[in-house]
Amino acid sequence: MSLVIYNTLTQKKEVFQPLEKNKVKLYVCGPTVYNHIHVGNARPLVFFDVVYRYLKFKGYDVTYVRNITDIDDKIIKRAQEEKKNSSEIAQIYTQAFEEDIKILGIEAPTYCPKATDHIEEMVQWIQALLNKGYAYEVQGEVLYSVEKIKFYKLSKKNAEELLAGARVEVAGHKKNPGDFVLWKPSKPGEPSWKSPWGPGRPGWHIECSVMSTKYLGDTLDIHGGGRDLIFPHHENEIVQSESYTGKPFVKYWMHNEMLSFGKEKMSKSLGNIVTMHEFLEKYPAEVLKFILISNHYRSLLEFSEQAIQEAIGGLEKIYKTLLQAQAQLKDKNDAKSSLSKDMKEVVIPLWKKFEEAMDDDFNTAQALGAIFEAVRVINHAFTSHISWSSEGKKVLKEFLETIEKIGKIWGLFQQDPNDFFEHLRTKLLHQVSLSRQDIEKLISERLQARQQKNWKRADEIRKELEKNHILLEDTPTQTTWKVQI
Ligand code: AMP
Ligand code: ZN
Repeated sequence: MSLVIYNTLTQKKEVFQPLEKNKVKLYVCGPTVYNHIHVGNARPLVFFDVVYRYLKFKGYDVTYVRNITDIDDKIIKRAQEEKKNSSEIAQIYTQAFEEDIKILGIEAPTYCPKATDHIEEMVQWIQALLNKGYAYEVQGEVLYSVEKIKFYKLSKKNAEELLAGARVEVAGHKKNPGDFVLWKPSKPGEPSWKSPWGPGRPGWHIECSVMSTKYLGDTLDIHGGGRDLIFPHHENEIVQSESYTGKPFVKYWMHNEMLSFGKEKMSKSLGNIVTMHEFLEKYPAEVLKFILISNHYRSLLEFSEQAIQEAIGGLEKIYKTLLQAQAQLKDKNDAKSSLSKDMKEVVIPLWKKFEEAMDDDFNTAQALGAIFEAVRVINHAFTSHISWSSEGKKVLKEFLETIEKIGKIWGLFQQDPNDFFEHLRTKLLHQVSLSRQDIEKLISERLQARQQKNWKRADEIRKELEKNHILLEDTPTQTTWKVQI
């Protein structure tokens, strides 16, 4: 099966054909480290991690580069506010970022270059752009001149049209409002590096052009990031890179849609953010990944309490089925029933359905739909079978193996189900007023009441627990509990 990718450059789905056979050069814009990342920032991190893993699974030799922007106006501003120096701020938030993505279980890219380790190369690029007549210098500042750009490749608009719709600061010394900074002179006390134009620092756009081509060559197969980066960041990366190398910069541009919160894009500047750190204090990381993966990356995703609860419910359903399937496979009895039509049409072809959905522009939402269908069929069988046939158990075993394989690509469903439930309970317990000891005491009191046929008291205890968000589930051998917020 061939992989199809939606290319922002052509605005259509295209069959993926790498520049070099079996090799993929992938670049994704990384964070600017001046604050904790928020759950919206996790969307490109999780999605491109899935892209990376899926391409590797398909047999490609993938070189994945995700940079760290550790010098930028925002970092300097934050440093001034906190009375620290900007390298300290960058260090603190680089470390926080690394901790967050470790908890999220994101695979390390092949290279994670930092902008400040590549200043010399940036100076050399800027000098070359000046020599070729694409840039000009005004009082220690070097700007790229967009004069000659007829059309921006991703937006298909000319500079004037684009700027009409964008909020771009127009500085007096610019020849054209769309001209962008390649080198910025530093003010006293700001971090600076030596350059032929005086002490200063590079602009954000040039950082990505230099770091991507350094590790991947002049033309990349895939360049990714959020939609909000299309203009000006990615357009400017394209114009300056193609001016410098004389070659096409990127074959496939991929952009994830935004995660919104309260009807607006979640963003640090709007202040409507939930940091990853805050989220992870209340919920397991797998819940966030599940929210992100259950939506197609090009559709708008609204982050809400309801989305969190639905993700918890979805994960519980899948893990519960895994638990039951594992237990069923230990059962030595074999019944003489034949496989149902649903088992043959829904469960057996699950892996094929997964691949078809992923090959269609990484349609994780559709693939998850196929998983839920299989779960529904298996659960239906659990409620109607006393014992499974050996043929049925073979399907069950294959189902478990398929989920494990999918889990490795998505970075989900990799825990032992009992550990998952325990971890979820521990996290959610922080949000209710009862402690684990309180709950267990009430459950044993209820058990005693039931043994004494004191149904009234047993019922009271159940209701009291429910009032405190604790739901009980009685099985023939034990009573389990879960937190329902
Ligand atoms: P920033 O730190 O704003 O440069 O963002 C880092 C990455 O997160 C970029 O790829 C952005 O496009 C992406 N991003 C920022 N906000 C959101 C959001 N609300 N939803 C999805 N992606 C986002
Ligand atoms: Zn970038």
